[in-house]
Amino acid sequence: MTTRRTFLAAIPVTAIALTLTRKANAQPAKLEESDPMAVSLGYKHDASKVDNKKFASYAAGHSCANCQLYQGKAADAWAACAAVGGKLVNGKGWCAAWSKKA
Ligand code: SF4
Repeated sequence: MTTRRTFLAAIPVTAIALTLTRKANAQPAKLEESDPMAVSLGYKHDASKVDNKKFASYAAGHSCANCQLYQGKAADAWAACAAVGGKLVNGKGWCAAWSKKA
């Protein structure tokens, strides 16, 4: 039988467990192109929209999906990137920190 005391004692434990579960399942935020970090690296969700004059290191075929720092599989639409603080970047995107996946 559940007494009022045991019921009340269980509430904080349940709240902590729910909070931890939510944090464990939380996805990092998507990197916005307007984010100062993205702006400084010339990041675009779509690599074809990269400003080639400003970011001359961009070459056709370079994308987040084939970058060393892309933390997902090549087929993943979005994945975290260490160069932008672990935020999610688009697999078809690009930034000036691109480095060919080994
Ligand atoms: S470092 Fe690589 S994966 Fe990260 S945003 Fe730049 S190109 Fe994309």
